[in-house]
Amino acid sequence: MLELFSLKGKVAIVTGCNTGLGQGMAISLAEAGAVIVGANLSEPTETIALMEEKGLTFHSVIADMSDSEAPAKIITEAVNKFGKVDILVNNAGIIRRADSIEFSEKDWDDVMNVNIKSVFFMSQAFARQVLRQGTPANIINIASMLSFQGGIRVPSYTASKSAVMGVTRLLANEWAKDGINVNAIAPGYMATNNTQALREDAERSKEILGRIPAGRWGLPSDIGGPAVFLASEASRYINGYTVAVDGGWLAR
Ligand code: NAP
Repeated sequence: MLELFSLKGKVAIVTGCNTGLGQGMAISLAEAGAVIVGANLSEPTETIALMEEKGLTFHSVIADMSDSEAPAKIITEAVNKFGKVDILVNNAGIIRRADSIEFSEKDWDDVMNVNIKSVFFMSQAFARQVLRQGTPANIINIASMLSFQGGIRVPSYTASKSAVMGVTRLLANEWAKDGINVNAIAPGYMATNNTQALREDAERSKEILGRIPAGRWGLPSDIGGPAVFLASEASRYINGYTVAVDGGWLAR
């Protein structure tokens, strides 16, 4: 049974894995047997060191996910290096906070470009390669609690992450028949750079913690298991679903 969860021989692309959840998922996928192609804005030195320490295989590609040429570059480098691609984790994401009454067009466009436009076009480039290979494949998009809820003072983030859940369903509908499983993980409140401002705000931090049934902020390692599951054959009949990994936040 456990063989179904093994990623041995698989090539996994993870965007934005120099830190945080991307780093956690890259390590978990590698520990489950995959070789990792990490796409980052700059050399992910900490991740490279952690991978080396554990004897895991990691290839770094420098790419800005807001650049429309990034997807082709990443796929080409991955195929040149490892001969194929099997798993894509669309993790790179940014957040901008301001009252909606004064939210800027730049903060709207920057967030939408990285959080949803790149998710679609990266998935498209990946799927074109997989169809050429004729092999099964798994895409995991990183959604959010704000795929389900409205949030506050993060309008472009809410718009982009709500769209991630919708596009996950749409791509699953189109590609399930080709053996490409498209699903998403919606992390709850996790202790990473993304939530640093919230955790430093004593009042907001207390409010948030008080609502999490598990009683703690999530850690990057908490989404490793769900990521391995959704990247593996064990999830082969799961299509278009967004799994919350939130310590019970949405159940509350
Ligand atoms: P993070 O530590 O800020 O990580 C975000 C990652 O995306 C970093 O590696 C960052 O690189 C990369 N990135 C940003 N813009 C990029 C671009 N243009 N091109 C390439 N890479 C880019 O935050 P995180 O919490 O781990 O976030 C990972 C994902 O989880 C995001 O999609 C986020 O929205 C989502 N998420 C997080 C939480 C949470 O509570 N933390 C909750 C729900 C969803 P740099 O470090 O070089 O900027």
